[in-house]
Amino acid sequence: MDKELFVEQAVVDSILSYAQILHPRESILLLKGKVDKHKLVINDTQLPPFATHGRTFSAFPLSSLPIDFSVMGVAHSHPSGALRPSATDLNKFYGRIMVITAYPYQSERNLAVFNRQGSPLKYKII
Ligand SMILES: [Zn+2]
Repeated sequence: MDKELFVEQAVVDSILSYAQILHPRESILLLKGKVDKHKLVINDTQLPPFATHGRTFSAFPLSSLPIDFSVMGVAHSHPSGALRPSATDLNKFYGRIMVITAYPYQSERNLAVFNRQGSPLKYKII
């Protein structure tokens, strides 16, 4: 992705606190925002419809998603503490970016953003 990436502080806080609440299950949140030629801004989160929370996976049926062009990607947690996408994560990549937060979900150091190839993306918190 060649755009500058911005994530609002409130979004970071939501992802971290929701992961803490659901631990040791995985949490999953849709990332909403806006995109233009130069930048991608994530400014809201939303619970996916019909999400299921497992100890080792989080899933939701993609067919249940409304057609919503403000959904930029998905955030989920890794109770194992691994701050990198699994092969399954990359297979199920949805949208433009993937956010992973790893246990203990304390700060943005426990959070990373990845592209479809699984490479970490630089982002700024605003
Ligand atoms: Zn994962």
